[in-house]
Amino acid sequence: MEKIDIAIVGTGITGLAVSAFLCELDKSIFVLEKNENFGQESSSRNSEVVHAGIYYPQQSMKAKYCVEGNRLIYEICAKNGISYKKLGKLIAASEESEIEKLDALLEKGKANGVEGLRIIAKDEIRKLEPNVNAAAALLSPNTGIVDTHNLMKYFYTKAKDQGVEFVFNSGVNAINKKGEEYVVTVRDTDRTDFSFLTRVLINCAGLNSDKIAEMAGIDINKAGYSLNYCKGQYFRVGGLKSQMIKHLIYPVPDEKEISLGIHATPDLGGGLRLGPDAQYIEREQANYIVDESKKDYFAKRAAKLLPFIDSEDLTADTAGIRPKLQGPQSGFRDFVLAHEKHRGFKGLINLIGIDSPGLTAAPALAKEVLEIVKELL
Ligand SMILES: Cc1cc2nc3c(=O)[nH]c(=O)nc-3n(C[C@H](O)[C@H](O)[C@H](O)COP(=O)(O)OP(=O)(O)OC[C@H]3O[C@@H](n4cnc5c(N)ncnc54)[C@H](O)[C@@H]3O)c2cc1C
Repeated sequence: MEKIDIAIVGTGITGLAVSAFLCELDKSIFVLEKNENFGQESSSRNSEVVHAGIYYPQQSMKAKYCVEGNRLIYEICAKNGISYKKLGKLIAASEESEIEKLDALLEKGKANGVEGLRIIAKDEIRKLEPNVNAAAALLSPNTGIVDTHNLMKYFYTKAKDQGVEFVFNSGVNAINKKGEEYVVTVRDTDRTDFSFLTRVLINCAGLNSDKIAEMAGIDINKAGYSLNYCKGQYFRVGGLKSQMIKHLIYPVPDEKEISLGIHATPDLGGGLRLGPDAQYIEREQANYIVDESKKDYFAKRAAKLLPFIDSEDLTADTAGIRPKLQGPQSGFRDFVLAHEKHRGFKGLINLIGIDSPGLTAAPALAKEVLEIVKELL
């Protein structure tokens, strides 16, 4: 049986960033992907926002890796000609009563190490964004947007050029621990199985990351690794109205909501999208269909801050599914980035529940994985 040093499951932004950081180790590395190409799931179905790290609890991994990832993404993009725009973001209070929540967010962001945050009043908002209706806003100058596809392509090409072997159309369907190694079995599209041995196994399988951990032998209910699927849909704003804002415009988050609220995101192609909403769905019902009947709801929510938006301006765009550890009734859950040595699985590194800000955090998570692997090999 073939024997390698490192196997990575998944070629979303997480698996690709990990492969690009690990390729410098000069070890034999396989990256396994069930789809025919990289980045076909959550990583290509999101807002493409480089978050600053404002919302997450202090000391959380989401805060830490988001703040570091934000810096790394801009650095990588600038160095390698990947498109991005530091548009800046306004978290805008539609009513006076929301202003104190902005103060709380400012303090939270500062505690997380986010730079440049400040509250701005109505007259400054009017100068920056004459078409936005807000009582006050928290300005985050380091929030931006990135060309996610080209960022993923950069990681992919970097790893491939260093000899990392990408195996597409190959879903991992069994993992067996053998001493201090793992026998990984992969099934290709002809339903042919292929097994190999690896010393290190890194689980970056997004929506299936809990199942991969379970295959390896972890009791995912006991570990708190079971994922919930939470769908988010987008609508596109048509015509000249797509040009009416320059910043990312977000509402003040409602604690009762599971996401940051329907926001307006200009994209690198000069368009404007509204979304995503957030709705928990059953795993078996996972699909990317956008419910057209939600158009009025999206328009109504957006019009609070963007009064120029009408329902007729919107057309259904894409949808994505968040792999959330947080369930419909539970509170904040952090990313899992764990070397499972203490559970008896030396060499198994799990990345589970990598929902937002997972795109932003990817290079910082990959840097951390590199440190763990250096100790192992
Ligand atoms: C609607 C939405 C909006 C978001 N907006 C933002 C945002 O603006 N900014 C931000 O920072 N984050 C955002 N996120 C979060 C971000 O998109 C994710 O955190 C990130 O894309 C996760 O990447 P990933 O590589 O972990 O997972 P994925 O991109 O899902 O990749 C996992 C890969 O593993 C593969 N895989 C699964 N099972 C197997 C198997 N058995 N064998 C082989 N391969 C397998 C899959 O095919 C897939 O290619 C958003 C997410 C959603 C859904």
